[in-house]
Amino acid sequence: MMFRILLSLILFLLISCGVSKNPLRKEVKLLQKGIIKDDTSYVYALPFEEGKSFRVIQGYFSPFTHKERAALDFNMKKGVKITAARGGIAIRVKEDGTLGGLKKKYRSHGNNIVIEHEDGSRAGYWHLQHNGALVNVGDTVKQGQVIALSGKTGYALVPHLHFLVWKYDSTRKWQQVATRFQTSNGIKYLRGWKKYKRPVE
Ligand SMILES: [Zn+2]
Repeated sequence: MMFRILLSLILFLLISCGVSKNPLRKEVKLLQKGIIKDDTSYVYALPFEEGKSFRVIQGYFSPFTHKERAALDFNMKKGVKITAARGGIAIRVKEDGTLGGLKKKYRSHGNNIVIEHEDGSRAGYWHLQHNGALVNVGDTVKQGQVIALSGKTGYALVPHLHFLVWKYDSTRKWQQVATRFQTSNGIKYLRGWKKYKRPVE
C-alpha cells in the first residue's frame, strides 16, 4: 500500500512539478523548524483518541493534493474514531456520500464535518465513512469528543482523515491556517511522513 502511494506521488510530482507560491507555505516551514516561535495560538488536540498514534501522509502545502492547502492527511483505515481537535459547534455535517477515489467526480461525495470554534475559526474533518458522522448540525462539541468514523469518501487515494482549519483574515477573506498540536513530544506544527501520538492526559 505504501508503495502504491509513493508511486502515485512520484508520478504526480513529475506531472505537476512546482510548489505553491502562497506566502503561508514559507511561514509554516519556519514554524515547523522552530525558527519562528509561536507561543500564543490555540493548541489543538490530535484528532484521534488518547494514546493512539497516526502518521501524517501529507503535510501542509504538499505538492500531491495539498499544493495550495494548509491541510493535514492522517493515514487511517476505515472506521477509526475521529475526535474534535478543538471544541465548538457543528455547523455542517455530510454523511450520505458513498463513493471515493482519485477521480474529480468523487469530490462531491466526501463526507465531512465542520466545527466552528469560539474565535470564529473553523475546522474541517473530511473523507468520513458513509453514515460516519456521530454529531448533528447545531451540536456543541468538546475537545476530544468522538465526532466521526474515518473513511475514504470523496477525492481520496486511500482511507485517511483530511484535517484543516480556516479563519477570516484582516481582509475578510477565508484563509487556511496551520495550527499547532499537543503531541506526546510536546507542542508541534506537524510535518509530512512523521507519526504523532496523542498523549494520555
Ligand atoms: Zn488531504
